[in-house]
Amino acid sequence: MRVGIGYDSHRLVSGRPLILGGHHIPSERGLEGHSDADAAAHALTDAILGAAGIGNIGELFPDTDPTWKNADSLAMLRTAHQRVQERGYRAVQADLTIILEGPKLGPAIPAIRRGLAEALDLPADAVSVKPKTNEGMGFIGRGEGIAVFAVASLEEY
Ligand code: MG
Repeated sequence: MRVGIGYDSHRLVSGRPLILGGHHIPSERGLEGHSDADAAAHALTDAILGAAGIGNIGELFPDTDPTWKNADSLAMLRTAHQRVQERGYRAVQADLTIILEGPKLGPAIPAIRRGLAEALDLPADAVSVKPKTNEGMGFIGRGEGIAVFAVASLEEY
């Protein structure tokens, strides 16, 4: 069994959709980025790549590559999981913490879990997603952006 950690952060800006786990969350602002800026999918992608020891999301999907402009990050997660499986591992379980001051994610959590889990061919209960505020501190507390931590485990198959 192997374990990997991933981290991602994105700036919150006007005129962009807020997408987490492939789910569109009603919000006045969304995440800035080359792809759809789905920070939950990005952190989880890095966690599975890290667990397999095969690099990181920036190497697999360079932001200089127009292919990934406004890309669906769940498709990127799926592609990363294919690379992981080519090495003889597959995802078993993941746990994420999404740190943001708002909007409240509570109602969206089941859809976020389902989106991430489906991209890894896992049942929704294999992917945990926990929202947290940053108690008003720092860039997250000021609402300038959000951050996500992800841990994932892989098994050999
Ligand atoms: Mg990112």
